[in-house]
Amino acid sequence: MGDLIRPQNTIAVLQKNNFRFQKRFGQNFLIDGHVMDKIIAAANVEKDDYVLEIGPGIGTMTQFLCENAGKVAAVEIDRSLIPILHDTLSSYDNVEIIHKDILKIDLKNFIQEKNDGRPIKIVANLPYYITTPIIMGLFENHVPAESITVMVQKEVAERMKAVPGSKDYGSLSLAVQYYASPQIAANVPPNCFMPRPKVGSAVICLQCHDRPPVQVKNEKILFEIIRAAFNQRRKTLLNALYHNMQMELTKEEILEKIIKLGVPQTVRGEELTLEQFARLADLFEER
Ligand code: SAM
Repeated sequence: MGDLIRPQNTIAVLQKNNFRFQKRFGQNFLIDGHVMDKIIAAANVEKDDYVLEIGPGIGTMTQFLCENAGKVAAVEIDRSLIPILHDTLSSYDNVEIIHKDILKIDLKNFIQEKNDGRPIKIVANLPYYITTPIIMGLFENHVPAESITVMVQKEVAERMKAVPGSKDYGSLSLAVQYYASPQIAANVPPNCFMPRPKVGSAVICLQCHDRPPVQVKNEKILFEIIRAAFNQRRKTLLNALYHNMQMELTKEEILEKIIKLGVPQTVRGEELTLEQFARLADLFEER
C-alpha cells in the first residue's frame, strides 16, 4: 500500500490514463511520504472510524485511509478520475467512490444514512479555490464531525488559528474557533505536490467542540456582528457595525451596547475575543 505517493508511480498512473490536470478543480497531488505520514498521524484514524475524504485525486491518501479506517467515502468531482480511483483502490473493500461536487451533497443526511448520524472524521488535501465554503459549510450545517484534518493554503491555516490583535485575526478565526480547536500539524512546501502550487501549504487539524466554548442566544446575530466588524477592519467597531450590519440600529444604540460591553468606544473588531463578541451578540439580541 501507499506506493502512489512515490512521484514515479503517480506519473505512471497519470500517463497510463492520459490524465490532464484541471486547474479549475485545484488539482495538486501529494507526492511526499513524510507529509502523508503527518496527515495520517494528525487525523488519528482508527479501525472503527468512518472517514470522508474530499477530493481523493488518484487515491494516494485514500489508500492510507483505507488501511487505517473502518470505512472510507471518497467524493471526487472530476469524472476522469473515477475510473482511475476504481483501479488504484481495487484491493480495498471498505471504500465507496462517489462522483459528486462536495458542495452539492447534504452531508448531514449523508452521515445519517452511512454512519447512523454518528460523528465522522474528515480528511482532505482540499482544493484551495473552495476551502472556506467547504469548511464553513461543514460547521454552519452542523455536520456531525469529530475532527477535520485538512491541507490548506498556509495563510488560511494561520488565519484559522489566529488570536485577537494579530494581523491574521478575522471572521474565519472566530468562526473556526467557535466550532473547533485548530492546531497546525505541518507546514508543507510546494515541492511536495505535483504540479507545484504557487503558494505554501499547511496541514491543520480542527478538533470539533461538542459544545461551542461560548454560549449565545442567537448564533445568526453572532456571525452577523463578526462579519460586519471585519468587513472594514480598519474602522472602529462602532463604525463598522453601523455601516455593515443589516439590523437597522442608530449609531447611538450601537454605541450604548459597546459601552455596556465595557470596552473603549474606539475599540476595533480585531481587538475583541470570541467571548466578547458573544456577549455583544446577546446585547443585540436583547433589543
Ligand atoms: N487527495 C489528492 C492528493 O492529495 O493527491 C488530490 C488533492 S487535490 C489538491 C484536490 C482534489 O479535489 C482534486 O482531485 C480535485 O479534482 C478535487 N475537487 C475539486 N473540487 C471538488 C469538489 N467541488 N468536490 C469534490 N472534489 C473536488
